[in-house]
Amino acid sequence: MSGGQLFVVSAPSGAGKTTVLKAVLSTLPAVGFSVSHTTRPPRPGEVEGRDYFFVSSDEFSRRRQRGDFLEWAEVHGNLYGTSRQAVTDRLAQGQDCVLDIDVQGARQLREHRDLNPVFVFIAPPSLTELERRLTGRQTESAATLALRLANARTELAALDLYDYVIVNDDLSQAQTLLAALILERRARGRRGYDGRPLVLEALDR
Ligand code: ADP
Ligand code: 5GP
Repeated sequence: MSGGQLFVVSAPSGAGKTTVLKAVLSTLPAVGFSVSHTTRPPRPGEVEGRDYFFVSSDEFSRRRQRGDFLEWAEVHGNLYGTSRQAVTDRLAQGQDCVLDIDVQGARQLREHRDLNPVFVFIAPPSLTELERRLTGRQTESAATLALRLANARTELAALDLYDYVIVNDDLSQAQTLLAALILERRARGRRGYDGRPLVLEALDR
């Protein structure tokens, strides 16, 4: 029985998921990312082991065959996978764990009833705004931009798979909503703000 709660968070590329998650995880105690492995090359500013573990296709398939991944998928032409060990270790330590994964990965996690994940979808306010954000980020070529926008439509069609939907229009409102639902799950699980189990003996019920 694990102490922490697992959160699966998906969004179409460019919706602002990384921005929202980083802000929330830096303010709330006892919650962290599972850092995925990917065959995608690093973007400027991305750090090995913090943003991703950047691996070759050969290394990725070795790990996949060894059963290292809780789930894995090909997304926008690259491979991405979640380390099983990293997730179970974090949960066992009583920490909440956030998986920043795509819709295909979320579907695979649905089969892991033992992990009891909470599914959160972050949506952009519109497709026009999504395109504006992706273009503004200046990380994509014309081809990868078009691929990410085309995939956004398929991802939005899977929105009903998720327990919670947050529209990232105003950034601070989206952050507040995500933090609120993480804290709501703590209270429901008889854990405090800091993620620790509540001590209720002194209440002499
Ligand atoms: P994702 O991780 O979903 O691909 P990012 O977090 O990289 O998206 O955000 C995409 C771009 O949109 C970034 O340039 C980011 O600064 C910007 N952005 C994120 N949230 C908002 C928001 N609420 N309003 C305006 N711009 C935003
Ligand atoms: P990016 O290349 O923009 O960092 O991520 C592209 C997409 O891959 C995002 O939707 C992100 O959530 C997803 N992704 C990142 N890591 C994983 C993972 O380990 N598994 C799966 N299935 N998707 C991932």
